[in-house]
Amino acid sequence: MAANIPGDLHWDRILITLFIAILLFFYYQGRGSKGADGGERKVGILQFLLPMDIYTHVSARVDIWLWVLERFLRPFWAVALFATVGTFTEQSVIVGLEFLFGGTPAVETNFVWMLLYALVSLLCYDFIFYVIHYTMHKVPALWAIHKIHHSAEVLTPLTRSREHFLAGPIWATGSAFSFGFAAGLFAYLFDGGITQATLFNVGFFSFLLGLTGAFRHYHVQLRYPRWLEKWIQSPAMHHTHHSYLRKHWDTNMAAVTSIYDRMFGTLYIPEKDEYTPWGIGPETQDEYRTFWQNTAGPFRDWYKMVAGGSSPQAGSASESVPKNDAEAT
Ligand SMILES: [Zn+2]
Ligand SMILES: [Zn+2]
Repeated sequence: MAANIPGDLHWDRILITLFIAILLFFYYQGRGSKGADGGERKVGILQFLLPMDIYTHVSARVDIWLWVLERFLRPFWAVALFATVGTFTEQSVIVGLEFLFGGTPAVETNFVWMLLYALVSLLCYDFIFYVIHYTMHKVPALWAIHKIHHSAEVLTPLTRSREHFLAGPIWATGSAFSFGFAAGLFAYLFDGGITQATLFNVGFFSFLLGLTGAFRHYHVQLRYPRWLEKWIQSPAMHHTHHSYLRKHWDTNMAAVTSIYDRMFGTLYIPEKDEYTPWGIGPETQDEYRTFWQNTAGPFRDWYKMVAGGSSPQAGSASESVPKNDAEAT
């Protein structure tokens, strides 16, 4: 489970990201990468892989410090959370199933079942991720926390981990719950005798998740064929999630698949080279530029909400959040 907490830097994934980007550079002959303004442009290979305007941007530097703080605080809650939420969920599912259907059917395992276990784990995870993410976008008090991820004005692989330190426990609770749920279900069916099919020692599909996780916060557009994007989110589809244009708000909120976004009407498949200016929009971006502004952000927003009156988020969540409080997704 711990391997699935977003927030870890995996050098292997960054190297694979770079490798795919080099292939894309040759395939698209220098096109397909975006600049700090979120616009596509044709550039040389160095600028394609490591654009100066992005990596010297204040937002990229703030990514680093937010990540450092989050990593520093994580040990204080992560282990306890996984041990309690994960185990409790798993045990509850087993007890519940035994109550409903009697003892374990103790099915014989084989590789197909192990693959299915990995797939179900991923679908559970993606669903919980979607629900939490959607809620964070729609509930003003939670948007105050998640906004820090969206205040990134440029996308770098580290932007994936750019979160307010209060967001870590929320995401971790969600993944502990979802993996605990799948683990309980399969432990019941197979009398505890099944493990996920793995790839490089990580759950088969979780490995793919980690891979897209690194690439979807990279400025190079990696697209899939349109029919496939209706099932799996291409990394470029996360570019629109970070755009402050109205039509991009609250779209593509799952982590891996497009299934839940399609079910709940939030799927957005961008056009070729679609313009995606990143951040929370010119109106409030100035309030979320430095490390301290971002760290203090939620507390400032909550204070405004409690103090009432002039709070930009006092109305209905879905309307007031994007309209007033930075056009974000
Ligand atoms: Zn993101
Ligand atoms: Zn979001």
